[in-house]
Amino acid sequence: MQIPGHIDPVPLPAKVTPREDGKADIIGLSQPEIRDLMIEAGLDAKQAKLRSKQVFHWIYHRGITDFEAMTDLGKQLRPWMAERFVIGRPEIVEAHLSEDGTRKWLLRSADGQDYEMVFIPDDDRGTLCISSQVGCTLNCRFCHTGTMRLVRNLTPGEIVGQVMLARDDLGEWPRGVMDFADVEDGRTQKEYNQDYKSDGRMLTNIVLMGMGEPLYNFDHVRDAMKVVMDGAGLALSRRRITLSTSGVVPMIARAGEEINVNLAISLHAVNKEIRDEIVPLNKKYGIEELLQACADYPGASNARRITFEYVMLKDKNDSDEDARELVRLLRKYDQPAKVNLIPFNPWPGSPYECSTPERIKAFSSIIFAEGISAPVRTPRGRDIMAACGQLKSASEKKSRAELDRLAEEKQAALG
Ligand code: SF4
Repeated sequence: MQIPGHIDPVPLPAKVTPREDGKADIIGLSQPEIRDLMIEAGLDAKQAKLRSKQVFHWIYHRGITDFEAMTDLGKQLRPWMAERFVIGRPEIVEAHLSEDGTRKWLLRSADGQDYEMVFIPDDDRGTLCISSQVGCTLNCRFCHTGTMRLVRNLTPGEIVGQVMLARDDLGEWPRGVMDFADVEDGRTQKEYNQDYKSDGRMLTNIVLMGMGEPLYNFDHVRDAMKVVMDGAGLALSRRRITLSTSGVVPMIARAGEEINVNLAISLHAVNKEIRDEIVPLNKKYGIEELLQACADYPGASNARRITFEYVMLKDKNDSDEDARELVRLLRKYDQPAKVNLIPFNPWPGSPYECSTPERIKAFSSIIFAEGISAPVRTPRGRDIMAACGQLKSASEKKSRAELDRLAEEKQAALG
C-alpha cells in the first residue's frame, strides 16, 4: 500500500519471485496459498486441500526441501510437485561467525539482491535479526543501511527464507517422530506440545530489525510472520517476535490488529530538532503522535512492554536532561515501556561518535531510578561487522571470485 507524504514506500513486488526454470518457489506461502497453486496446476480441490497440509508441515515443521522426502505424499505426486515447484532458500554470499558466537550472513535473492541476517545467541535465548527490505528509504543518520538506496521490498518467501536458512545452519529441524499422530509412548497432545517447545532450540526469538523499515513492506511482513507463527509449521509465538519501526504512525495500529507481535520503536531522541536530524521520518510523524500510537497499541501491558530503542550519540542525545525528558514523555503517555540503550557502533564516515561508557551509565541510572528498565545493550559481533548494513556495503567492494571463495570457506567453518 502507498502511504502519502514525502517519504513513501515502494510498491510491492510480486509475492513469488519468477524463476528462470518456470517453477514456483513455494517458500513463504501459507497452506491455502500452496493449495491454490496446486489447484491451478491441475490437482483437484479435495486432493489439494489434503496434500497442501502435508506439504506445509514438511516444509515448515521439518525443514524438508526435497519433495521426494515427503513420504506420505504418494509416489506419483512427489515427481509431479518437483516438476512444478521448488522449496527455496536464499543463496549465502558470505557467512561469518564472531568470537562471541554471533553469526552473520549476507544473502542473495534469485534476482541478485543482497540483504543481511544476524543471529545473536544469549544464555536464555537466541535471537534472529531479519531484514524486510533491500536497502531503506528512511536515511536514519546513525544507521549504515540508511546510506544505501532502497532497491526493493523483500517478498514473504525471502523473509521466511531467512528463518528457514538460520534453522538449517543451526541444525534445528526436529528429528524423530513427525507429529503427535506418530507418538507411541503414551504422551498426551498437551505433553507432546510442551516437550516440543522445550527441545533446547537455539533460535527462540525473531526481531524485524535488519535492513529496511518493516512497516513500509507491511503486507509481506504480515504474511511472512503469519507463516512463521502458524502452529502447524515453525510455530513461533507472537510473543517471541518483535517488529521494530522508526515510527510509521499510521501503520502501527494495523500492525497491532493484524499481527499483534511485540513492538519496538527506534526513538533515539526526545526533542523535535534532534530527532528530525537522526530519524528524518520524524518530520512527518512527530514524537507525541508516535507515543500516542504506542499507547494505543493493542496488547501493550506491563507484561508486554513496548521497547524504545535509544542509540547513544556523544553530545547529541545523551545528556541528563535528555534522560529526564525521556522519562517524562513515557510517563505522559502512560507507556508500559522499557528502554534499550545502544552504544553507537561507528562505521567509516559515520557522522557521530559513541557516548562514553560513563555517560551511558549515568543516562541509564536516571531512567532506572524512575522505575523504568533501561539496560545497556552489549555490543555483539563487532569483529564481523554485525551492525546493520555493514556487511553488504563491505561486500560490494569485493570481487565476485573472492566472495565465492569466502562463502565456501565460511560454510566449511560453520559445519
Ligand atoms: S534504522 Fe531502520 S528505518 Fe532507519 S535507515 Fe536504518 S534500516 Fe532504515
